Amino acid sequence: PQYPELPDNALIVLIGASGAGKTTLASTWPASQVLSLDGLRGVISDDPGCQDATGDAADVLKLILERRMARKLNTVIDATNLEQPVRVDLVMAAKRHGMPTIAVIVATPLSLCIARQDGRPDNRRVPEDTVRTQHKAMVHSVQSLRAEGFNETFFVGGLNRLEPYLRRLSE
Ligand code: ATP
Repeated sequence: PQYPELPDNALIVLIGASGAGKTTLASTWPASQVLSLDGLRGVISDDPGCQDATGDAADVLKLILERRMARKLNTVIDATNLEQPVRVDLVMAAKRHGMPTIAVIVATPLSLCIARQDGRPDNRRVPEDTVRTQHKAMVHSVQSLRAEGFNETFFVGGLNRLEPYLRRLSE
């Protein structure tokens, strides 16, 4: 496995603002293991940026995740995952299947998250205020992940293209 510090099979929840590099990090796992909310919005609505399709995409994501965890398969959730109820829902599903839960905080600096919105197509560009709010929520999440039931928390800085390891968050 490319991340020896992670269990072989787990639920891996990426957490980060838009532009943090979640999708880029997720691409270091086999594609079949990655559930992307953007990707599923595209499957459902032909437009990955279609915010109206978020609820439907989240439903489908949860169903696929359930079926994968019933098979004890490793799964990576590529979404901002910045809302506590969303994370708690994922953790509870994993616990029902006896799967370990890992949070990976993509802690890219706010300025870089904002800069990375430039050059995106209109339907994928997230407004600066939204990115700011998301970044705050990312920082805020750090203190509550343990209480939410995550077994372990790691972080990546998101600065270098190839970060070969995840850093364990010391408590
Ligand atoms: P969103 O939530 O909006 O989909 P995201 O967190 O998935 O964003 P990515 O789409 O992975 O972010 O990355 C945004 C941009 O930053 C991309 O152009 C990507 O190539 C670049 N990028 C991501 N990670 C890195 C990195 N570690 N080093 C250099 N560039 C990166």
